[in-house]
Amino acid sequence: TFTLSNPLRPAILAAARSDRMERTISRSKLTRKLVDRFVPGAAEADAMAAVRALVESGRFISVDYLGEDISHAGEAEETVRAYLSLLSAYRSLDLPATDGPAPLEVSIKLSALGQSLPGGEELALVNARTICAAAEQAGAWVNVDAEDHTTTDSTLRIVRELRREFPTVATVLQAYLHRTEADCRELAGPGSRIRLCKGAYKEPAEVAFQSKEEVDASYQRCLRVLMEGQGYPMVASHDPALIAAAQELAAETGRGSDDYEIQMLFGIRDGEQRRLVAEGGHVRTYVPFGNDWYGYFMRRIAERPANLTFFLRSLVSN
Ligand code: FAD
Repeated sequence: TFTLSNPLRPAILAAARSDRMERTISRSKLTRKLVDRFVPGAAEADAMAAVRALVESGRFISVDYLGEDISHAGEAEETVRAYLSLLSAYRSLDLPATDGPAPLEVSIKLSALGQSLPGGEELALVNARTICAAAEQAGAWVNVDAEDHTTTDSTLRIVRELRREFPTVATVLQAYLHRTEADCRELAGPGSRIRLCKGAYKEPAEVAFQSKEEVDASYQRCLRVLMEGQGYPMVASHDPALIAAAQELAAETGRGSDDYEIQMLFGIRDGEQRRLVAEGGHVRTYVPFGNDWYGYFMRRIAERPANLTFFLRSLVSN
């Protein structure tokens, strides 16, 4: 499923950045069907229907308003508005207050909040702050997603700044990057929340491990650092070996079910998500919604040869 076993992954991830491919693929009706598997819909109401069902099944959620790499500040404003509206919709769920992990979260991408525009770091910080303040009011957590490696330093600076005011703000570290084990050490302190994932972008060998074996081994090392640390590890993976490793490390480091969580994506391994909840663990499902599904969808296709075959067939018969 990672680079070595999927030789087309780099090409698909390159296509994920192509406007021409986006136009072709978005027109295909069959592709839409496959998109629906990973994205519950374009409207906030679609996301909330999915959220309601997930919460009823005992899962936590993190909703992402799809968007990345914007080119005008106006698009960032629209993204902020979408999150404020979503956070007020969270209130309709009427969940009881809890001392443990917050069941509701939003995931934000700084590139959708202006990070790459001129003066963008400040703009993204201001926009993220607005979302964090609304999330605090709604009793929800905020997670800052990780994007490609050219953004990592800027993202970590913004997260550090946000955490001064909103200490529960979380971020994501990607095990495929060489730097991540050191970042885990630095960010495993008390109160920190870190989502550990393998990493979904096309990255050069100078900064990232390229084979599944190396990425998995790095993930295991990073996981140990986070589990032995003082923060709240969020284990984002569908990989059965890594989930088993997380459970063993949690037992070894004396973590109870409120002291870490497993995270998976909407539409992937739903049965496994339910099984983990039935066992008494916390599972948070990442729910993306909105019109800008192309980049997200292509990264899911790149991860899995079975999805890829289905997808190519749908293009040929288009
Ligand atoms: P893999 O080795 O890809 O897969 C292991 C097994 O899981 C497969 O054998 C298969 O059984 C199943 N599986 C995996 N993917 C699929 C699929 N698409 N369809 C069906 N079955 C599948 N990446 C970032 O770069 N930044 C982020 O901020 C980020 N946030 C994430 C948040 C969550 C909650 C999750 C779960 C992932 C996130 N990712 C993010 C993506 C992540 O980096 C990986 O690209 C993705 O999770 C695939 O890696 P894996 O650990 O599931 O293992």
